[in-house]
Amino acid sequence: MRKPFKSVFKKSIIISTLLASALLLGACENKQPVYNSNFLAFGTVMKITLVGIPREKAEKVSALLESDFEKMHEMWHAWQPSPVSRVNVLIANNEAFASPPSLLPLLTRSIQLSEKSDHLFNPAIGHLIDLWGFQNSKALQRKPPADDEIMRLLKANPRMSDIIVDGFHIRSNNSQVRLDFGAIGKGYGVELAIKRLQELDVKNAIVNAGGDIGSIGSRDGHPWRIAVRSPSGQGLVALIHASGKESIFTSGNYERNFVWEGETFHHIIDPRTGKPAKGTASVTVIHPDATTADAAATALFVAGPTKWHETAIKMGIKHVMMIDTDGTIHMNPAMAARTDLQGSKHEVKISKAL
Ligand code: ADP
Ligand code: MG
Repeated sequence: MRKPFKSVFKKSIIISTLLASALLLGACENKQPVYNSNFLAFGTVMKITLVGIPREKAEKVSALLESDFEKMHEMWHAWQPSPVSRVNVLIANNEAFASPPSLLPLLTRSIQLSEKSDHLFNPAIGHLIDLWGFQNSKALQRKPPADDEIMRLLKANPRMSDIIVDGFHIRSNNSQVRLDFGAIGKGYGVELAIKRLQELDVKNAIVNAGGDIGSIGSRDGHPWRIAVRSPSGQGLVALIHASGKESIFTSGNYERNFVWEGETFHHIIDPRTGKPAKGTASVTVIHPDATTADAAATALFVAGPTKWHETAIKMGIKHVMMIDTDGTIHMNPAMAARTDLQGSKHEVKISKAL
């Protein structure tokens, strides 16, 4: 199972192999050299696939990405000492401050995407996430928090629009804002990694961050085939075709959760109720930009089966697959055209175009 974005690994490893990843590449024949490496970052196993690159260069590129990811993880950690945790202390103390340069682009992107999602993607709700016990890399809290504690945080109504950015200067109009980039940091990291690959003249590659994918180019002229796992945990639900610069991100209720009195409580919080969002099992989004894909997968998960379509339009998302908690798969026509469903146990509903 994927560990949360925030969990920490002291030591990472590189395992290199020339074998193609069966999950991503399917059965097509290798014409160009394929280099795969794995390392731990962002609390998950990162798998890098580079096609058509000599091995010596591929090893250097992979080591560079590993070091980039390590730095990003240190910069954006929500509760361990990091620029984010220091900024959270300044916000809580109502202080104006100069933003750490490493944080500013992620902060600005988060403010924009939060507003576009009508605040369903809301990285200002760190206090709520903490209250539910999801800001913790150890054992999860086993009991939901009391309603009055949730209500107290809901009344404070922390939002990204409370944060005022003026050049490097930041202040928050709301001391209850607490930043948690768990729903966007990995996407932003994958986007930077893809840009890094392009700078290094790598034309065909996959960055697989625990099932969330950034891709460029193709596999020997064939589209990449990206696996989407079934939220019930039984195998794959679909293979999605990707080519060119695209990212495919999934938010699922199976990633982190706990069971209390027979009910499962997962880690994607509806900022309107302060509780785990209801009605959705998983959402998969394709977008050219990984940061947008990550934030949108979370926002559409919260929007749920009745509101995902209008939220996708607001966020400019053109490809969505949502699996609701009854197991029905909802897709827009363009997504359906790019998807090979695996097995036939799901009812499928095709929406209007996006
Ligand atoms: P996954 O862990 O499946 O990739 P997400 O990208 O949706 O899922 O990220 C979930 C994480 O984002 C949570 O662990 C929490 O830290 C944070 N989070 C939870 N709910 C929200 C929300 N509504 N808006 C922004 N961040 C959220
Ligand atoms: Mg997300």
